[in-house]
Amino acid sequence: MPTPDRVVVPLESTAAAAVAAVADALAAHPRSRTVLFRAASAPDVEVLAAALAACAGRAGELEAPAPADGSEARAWSAAGLRRAWLRGPASAEALAALREGGVRVALTFDLAAVTPRALAAELERAVAAAPWLGSITVSAEPGAPTPDLEELRQALGRARTITRAAGVSFSTQGIPACVADPDGEAAGHRRPRLSADLVWGAPCPPCALRPVCVGAPATWWAPDEGLVSPEAIIEPWEPAAGTTRLQTVVRGFGEPVEGPVRAAPTPTVWLWTDRLQEADLPLPFTHLAIELTQARIELDTLQRLRRVGRPVHAGLRMGPVVVDVRAMVHALESVGVHTVALLAPESWVEAEVALRLAFPQLDVRRIGPPAEG
Ligand code: SF4
Repeated sequence: MPTPDRVVVPLESTAAAAVAAVADALAAHPRSRTVLFRAASAPDVEVLAAALAACAGRAGELEAPAPADGSEARAWSAAGLRRAWLRGPASAEALAALREGGVRVALTFDLAAVTPRALAAELERAVAAAPWLGSITVSAEPGAPTPDLEELRQALGRARTITRAAGVSFSTQGIPACVADPDGEAAGHRRPRLSADLVWGAPCPPCALRPVCVGAPATWWAPDEGLVSPEAIIEPWEPAAGTTRLQTVVRGFGEPVEGPVRAAPTPTVWLWTDRLQEADLPLPFTHLAIELTQARIELDTLQRLRRVGRPVHAGLRMGPVVVDVRAMVHALESVGVHTVALLAPESWVEAEVALRLAFPQLDVRRIGPPAEG
């Protein structure tokens, strides 16, 4: 759990080496207020005590496998540990001893160590033994073999129910949203921290969960492994558009948008408008649909499109008379627009084909007859 004020130090195998490692880390990061010791196996208690004592008034925390039993847990708290990020499963006895010793605990279940089938039972046991747990995380390490994804989906849904009922905060790490939270229940439209170890697959670009999804371990993208988007994005001008369980459409066109955009509870939030104000740029919408009548755009809006930093879809609402819109499409492409919809009647069929040939990098489609905006 590295944060800007927390320095992470691998726990060495001897007390002297651990003390030296803390001294080096604090010399390199003197402003760190917390030292997090990371250990691949349960640490020797003398080494842990020496390392914690070397923290020079800073908080000392431990990330390690859960202690084997109550006596080991008691030894950790006697060594001065006050906060632990533990990899489960953890026995009820060990959890109780940590609690008695005043250690705050967050528990992580690694899918390399617990099968999806066993996960819900392990979580139930942990929550029953320690309803005071700070948080529970289920984590997939990069390179992990693909679990049965349907089983994992169900286990994580159950985990969410169990932890919610107990009031324990629950999260996943390294697990794509279509497995961890396919209904977008917990997601809101928070942007996740992305990891270089996780990758996107073929269903991801139009996926309505993508704004809250970290991608999946590369090993999970084998054919027929079952990673599918639960819902594709739907541009606001499409016939099937509207607010769904994963998407909200906020209509601008001169109406105030800040409140509705900020209140939108879904992972995907469309801002659908004909002009972009400076104040719109920092709002937490995830997709912009810019609709232009007769291919006209204000210069300020065109320049702001370059700074949106999120997918921008353009819709050109055209009458039956075909006019040359290549200059406008070129301008849109040059500011980063990837998708252009011609909201135009059938007289535009040939122009649509010609635009596709002229702009091979763009996704150009005709949607007609246009619905009223
Ligand atoms: S389909 Fe891709 S973007 Fe959508 S939730 Fe799954 S991994 Fe994430």
